[in-house]
Amino acid sequence: MQVTESSTPKTALKAAGLTKVYEMGDVRVEALRGVDLELAEGEMAVLLGPSGSGKSTLLNILGGLDLPTAGTLSFQDHDLTDASEGELTRYRREHVGFVFQFYNLIPSLTARENVALVTEIAREPLPPEEALSLVGLGERLNHFPAQLSGGEQQRVAIARAIAKRPDLLLCDEPTGALDSATGILVLEAIERVNRELGTTTALITHNAVIAGIADRVLLFGDGRIVDEKRNESRVSPGELSW
Ligand code: ADP
Repeated sequence: MQVTESSTPKTALKAAGLTKVYEMGDVRVEALRGVDLELAEGEMAVLLGPSGSGKSTLLNILGGLDLPTAGTLSFQDHDLTDASEGELTRYRREHVGFVFQFYNLIPSLTARENVALVTEIAREPLPPEEALSLVGLGERLNHFPAQLSGGEQQRVAIARAIAKRPDLLLCDEPTGALDSATGILVLEAIERVNRELGTTTALITHNAVIAGIADRVLLFGDGRIVDEKRNESRVSPGELSW
């Protein structure tokens, strides 16, 4: 009998019943109120919702930067719910790439050197030149951040995040500080990484137009996923405008 591989993609990350409460003196903020989420391997998910709805809190927990107040989290077959600080550090270092709204590049290092900082400590990294070519910066290797546009700096940050070949790429408002034309170039870089390396990607935005690039859109409101939709086909970032 021929065994055919199941067409159902494996689950990369699974969260169930996540809550997060911030307490500051008498003030109590329920940032997450019970989030269930599964990301399939290779999936591009967009988390869309207004400011303050809990998106960053969720992303930080998914990436092991923060712990939930309650709920469970597992990555592949590893339960991270009660992971120690050391285990979370290893999870982040080996499996997760982060891209934030601000690029946090080191000004005194070139694009190549900013990426090499990560590849020097990774196990089977992409060469920095290859990571930078993937985001369209193969010709800018020796430029310093101040010699690059905002969008180019963000693409260096993406190259840095993906050079260690993470299983997960978590992007928090990666185009938030950019004009639309530049933002589209950044989305193209993220989309290409997802397509060519198969990196499971979750991207936060409050810009509904960006949802078009996703396989699946999770709508966030008031600490919960209030709706979910699957796009029949993904729109290429170059076709977006806002
Ligand atoms: P979003 O990413 O959708 O803008 P956040 O996850 O940043 O939402 O925030 C959700 C809620 O949690 C907001 O009310 C925010 O003020 C609050 N919050 C986020 N981080 C903290 C923190 N470190 N301490 C206290 N409150 C926080």
